[in-house]
Amino acid sequence: MSTFPKSAFAIAAITCIVLLLQGLDWIVTGALLVVWSGTLWLAAAKPPPQIERENRSSFSHGMMGELIEHSQTSIIVTERGRIAIANNSARGLLGAHIVGQDARMALRQPEAVRLLESDADGAAVVRGLARRRDIWRINRKQLGEDMAVIEFVNKTAEADISRAHTDFVANASHELRTPLASILGYVETLRDDVEHLEPGMADKFLATIQREARRLQDLVGDLMSLSRIEAEKHEMPSEEIELSSLVERAARDGAGVQRADRLEIVSEGTFTVRGDLQQLEQLVRNLVDNAMKYGAPEETVTVRVEPSSTAKVLLSVQDRGDGIAPEHLPHLTRRFYRTDPGRSRASGGTGLGLAIVKHIVERHRGRLDIESQRGEGTVFKVKLPLVQQD
Ligand code: ADP
Repeated sequence: MSTFPKSAFAIAAITCIVLLLQGLDWIVTGALLVVWSGTLWLAAAKPPPQIERENRSSFSHGMMGELIEHSQTSIIVTERGRIAIANNSARGLLGAHIVGQDARMALRQPEAVRLLESDADGAAVVRGLARRRDIWRINRKQLGEDMAVIEFVNKTAEADISRAHTDFVANASHELRTPLASILGYVETLRDDVEHLEPGMADKFLATIQREARRLQDLVGDLMSLSRIEAEKHEMPSEEIELSSLVERAARDGAGVQRADRLEIVSEGTFTVRGDLQQLEQLVRNLVDNAMKYGAPEETVTVRVEPSSTAKVLLSVQDRGDGIAPEHLPHLTRRFYRTDPGRSRASGGTGLGLAIVKHIVERHRGRLDIESQRGEGTVFKVKLPLVQQD
């Protein structure tokens, strides 16, 4: 409340008494006193301190809100447990309705509530804040007595990468262990029973050992290729390469002598791309080998190099055969993904061929599309940017 101006009122009262003594009508004098003191009281009246504090506080909220509004990080500011400010990113994450709400109600998760209820600075990891599988780290910083800043850092992608890494190591170990176990088994049998083995049996065992050892060699080779390509992912290759002649050479290599009669190569001109020679050859070999393996055995595989939209060249590898069911298509380039593991292994597949293709295409700033029709066959299309010729 404002303090009444006692001294000014005293002056007004004394003046009125003097006026009364001077013979002024007491009703007029009384009215004068009422009006005067009322005016004094109004002039002296100040806004209540609480309102003033609110004004000051909303002014600082405004400033703080503006400062954090466009941050990519979701940030909220709480005042006595209620959300006073939520920046654009936080409103996108939790909804615009959270402003004014009790922060514990807005976040709900027990770990978050525990953090909000503590007065100290701290952090918590919360799952499923906005979507079921997402993971967030929440950092809380106390500001003075009443306020706290709460920051949300999305850790979902990091967790996904770490999970993919763990899965990859587990899958790779499994793939390596199987042929290794088989080699060890046959070697032990050969050593223990060498005198009792039927003629020709030892030779069969040795052939299996050789096949499994080759599989190990292919696997290790593909794993090393993959890690090398991944390591160079952000380095655009600088060598200028004529694609048609490279494709012709690598496609013949991929088909091998025995399957050469099934190969058809169509080149519609010459095309210069910026690329890594060995990687582009590996890409063509992998696609042609797959087309030969998974296409019908008597059908032709067509490899085509042709102009695409402006400044692009299109390389396509087409087989005729069973094709691939649509549900498999989005996963084909994942490491060790196979639609038919038995068939892949029987044909010497490592399950890494298309993952390697995908990484090579990405490194060359290209694009990979897979189109397949059940009962008709599959086309793998790779688009690469052309070198601009002056
Ligand atoms: P793999 O060593 O098993 O051939 P890839 O990564 O090259 O591994 O291919 C992954 C899987 O994709 C294969 O196991 C196969 O199921 C499928 N696939 C690849 N190319 C073709 C194709 N041309 N036709 C049908 N299926 C294919």
